[in-house]
Amino acid sequence: MLAHRTTLFTASGTALARASARAASAKGRDIIDLSAGEISANLPSTISEGAIDAIRRGINGYTDTIGMAELRQALAHKLSQETGQAYSFEEIAVTGGAKQALFNATLVLLDPGDQVIVPAPYWSTFAAQVLLAGAQPVSVDTRENGYVPNIADIESALTPRTRAIVVNTPNNPTGAVYDDQTLVAIAELALAHDLWVIFDECYGAFTHQGRRHRSIVSLVPQIRSRTITVNSFSKSLAMTGWRIGYMAAPAAVVSAVKALQSHSTSNPNVIAQHAVLHHLQNGDREAEAILREQLTAARSLGLEILSKLKDVDLPAAEGGFYLYLDLSRLLGSSNSVWAGKTADDVAAALLEETGVVVVPGTVFGDPTGLRLSYGGLPDRLRAGCHRLVAFLDTRNDRNLVVGARQ
Ligand code: PLP
Repeated sequence: MLAHRTTLFTASGTALARASARAASAKGRDIIDLSAGEISANLPSTISEGAIDAIRRGINGYTDTIGMAELRQALAHKLSQETGQAYSFEEIAVTGGAKQALFNATLVLLDPGDQVIVPAPYWSTFAAQVLLAGAQPVSVDTRENGYVPNIADIESALTPRTRAIVVNTPNNPTGAVYDDQTLVAIAELALAHDLWVIFDECYGAFTHQGRRHRSIVSLVPQIRSRTITVNSFSKSLAMTGWRIGYMAAPAAVVSAVKALQSHSTSNPNVIAQHAVLHHLQNGDREAEAILREQLTAARSLGLEILSKLKDVDLPAAEGGFYLYLDLSRLLGSSNSVWAGKTADDVAAALLEETGVVVVPGTVFGDPTGLRLSYGGLPDRLRAGCHRLVAFLDTRNDRNLVVGARQ
């Protein structure tokens, strides 16, 4: 009844985790949702003022398919400042969130049968979109290398059909921030093998512990003609529901995206475009700095509580707002009640017994990880982490004692 393409994907795992949190809450359970990929914070006043002003002015029509020229110009200016490379508005397309920018990129760049390198663990949408374009995601495991890809591993995954590599830094789900050396090596590899780089910097505003986010384009300017930079305001200004993202790419790619978007969604919401334009023209980077401060405090709080975990090392969590736990020791030890289980089992039991919702790494191509978001309210984070620690540690102790007696 349905097209073959519907067999290529399931609903996003993070959306499923969110739905199960809401369903359990609706049944009256005390649920702590640490699965959300968003920050609890007030909207910057420049965003609300821009939106209200646009509504008051009676703005309600279509805009150019890939966004108003003034907004594209303002984004080109922002990106030029961030990268040190001069971008023009012809190289910018405004989209319904970063997700649409990424989907547009896969549809205009990939042919059926092409392959795309996706370092794993990966945000599952990367793989799903590649499949939807008829191409094949090729995952390269980064777990043994601090969640940053090893260049030799990427090199050995290349085939004559490789067309692109996805680079997501700071990374969802791992919180890893790629070092300059890795970014330079990826750019050199892409140049040598004629690959596109899909550079997702949605979490670029949030780095911690002195780490700094760098655009691959600033480090290796020659890669610019082969790079699709993707970003959005969803995370950087805590406005996920407004759906404004953008891509920066060579003008020919942007033209193709414009044609594609003209047949799919047309322009992103006009009021949201005005809100972001007003923010770019009148705001400063203060709103991001406030969120960064909030996240840095939340990160420390989460890490401090999780440091009590016995069989799980603390994550580096250098960027974004995720704590990604490596459960491989816990799942792999014959002394553990979790021996032979997966992160799915842990996440399901955690929800069942404690009401804490997290995202199992299986969703990200890694059955040994567990993602906790620290974007939410500190009290919930504190309570959720305490419950997680008590659950993982005591359950293990209790069951081992019972097991020893038998
Ligand atoms: N890219 C990454 C790595 C993400 O984690 C997300 C959202 O979670 C997105 C893109 C999509 O962002 P948006 O809400 O702007 O579509």
